[in-house]
Amino acid sequence: MTTTQHTSTTDSPLLRALTARVPVAGDGPAASFQTGLTHTPDATVVPGGVADVVAAVEIAARHDAPLTVHATGHGLSVPAAGGVLLDLAGLAGVEIDAGSRTARVGAGASWARVIAAAAPHGLRPPSGSAPSVGVAGYLFGGGLGLAVRSDGWAADHVRSFELVDADGTVRTVDASTDGARFARLRGTGPEPGEVVTAVTIGLLPAGPLTGGGLVRVLGPADEPGDPAPLHEWVSWTADLPTEITSGMSVVPYPDLPFLPPHLRGRRVLRVGVTVTGTPERADALLAPLRTAVRWDDDTVAPLDPRDTARVYAEPEMPHAYLGNGVLVDTPAPAGLDRVATRTGPMTVTGFRHLGGAAGRAGSVPDTVRGRDAGYLVSALAPFGADTVPAGDARREVDHVLDGLAPRVAAQRSHPAFRFGPARG
Ligand SMILES: Cc1cc2nc3c(=O)[nH]c(=O)nc-3n(C[C@H](O)[C@H](O)[C@H](O)COP(=O)(O)OP(=O)(O)OC[C@H]3O[C@@H](n4cnc5c(N)ncnc54)[C@H](O)[C@@H]3O)c2cc1C
Repeated sequence: MTTTQHTSTTDSPLLRALTARVPVAGDGPAASFQTGLTHTPDATVVPGGVADVVAAVEIAARHDAPLTVHATGHGLSVPAAGGVLLDLAGLAGVEIDAGSRTARVGAGASWARVIAAAAPHGLRPPSGSAPSVGVAGYLFGGGLGLAVRSDGWAADHVRSFELVDADGTVRTVDASTDGARFARLRGTGPEPGEVVTAVTIGLLPAGPLTGGGLVRVLGPADEPGDPAPLHEWVSWTADLPTEITSGMSVVPYPDLPFLPPHLRGRRVLRVGVTVTGTPERADALLAPLRTAVRWDDDTVAPLDPRDTARVYAEPEMPHAYLGNGVLVDTPAPAGLDRVATRTGPMTVTGFRHLGGAAGRAGSVPDTVRGRDAGYLVSALAPFGADTVPAGDARREVDHVLDGLAPRVAAQRSHPAFRFGPARG
């Protein structure tokens, strides 16, 4: 275990107790995908194994110090303010059991590691749009995978969690040993003080898999765009078999020099497609959408699981963002018009088609939200002191989502897609 000592508290009893049990490393915060929030703990502990986690949990409890867990920071919304920060970067091992088609994954691992380890065995995990997302944090929200309509929620594939309780007890939790906790972890997540150290998850056949993106430039980002392609995607999804999962994003790119010329200052619609079938089958299913919209780019082709980031082509650079996601039966048509035509602070709107296997109950109880929804719609806005104030970004996110799912219709927020600072 490594303990990072923060200079203001070098002689605190808490830090002395930690350093007595573990070596002390240099100063510095944990790396985080979310850069709009910063952890300021009294000490950062980087456990190298379960015993280190137990020691850190016990010492934090004895000193009445809050314990905060950090994996990749994609879902960071309440940063550590004092106390002990557990940075799980050192618990990122992945072991594949090809016979049982499972992976035992350290809680600090990202999906990229699991994808890379599973691929040589002809297997893939039920991962999502961005391979840099952490495995454990993703599963706590249920796990909306690239092929969720075919695979079901990633939580449906979890076999067990290994964790350290708030009192330092090491446990393995599965459906038979502790069904209630197993259900809570899959959809709601850990309680304060509970640290998951590893998860065992079922893997899926790597192929056949076909996927990619259909891209349509709607026009300049600062002018109203044509909403027709958005409506075409929604109507196309109304009657599809479970083997095809798709999502749509609308990104009004700023006019910044580091962006590729074809994106700079343009409002770009992208439909990300994943088919658990052959390219011929994908072509047959996509034919109506390809006819209805004149696409500027079409990259749907055989998909290697190691290349799944190309389906949604999300930014891989850490940045400051906030956002929310809501579950709806169908996106309100007037809200689709608003997404295509609105101008103002940059807001990325995302739509994920649910239903199919995502709409069926799992084999054991869980707390996953979204089985009864048709779509998940999300809005995400960058913010920063020298760009858009967080309050303005939050108002834009609310405005976009209110259009797609009016609050009067009991807006249902999804925990995995709430990003950035909590509402002030
Ligand atoms: C670019 C991007 C793409 C995404 N795509 C998808 C997607 O396709 N499908 C989907 O379902 N979700 C997606 N998400 C949402 C993502 O699943 C959540 O943000 C999730 O919380 C990220 O987990 P993390 O471990 O990476 O992040 P972190 O911020 O490190 O952790 C998230 C939360 O879980 C806690 N935590 C993490 N690990 C542990 C642990 N081992 N024990 C106890 N507590 C822990 C942390 O304290 C924190 O509160 C995406 C998010 C982003 C930013």
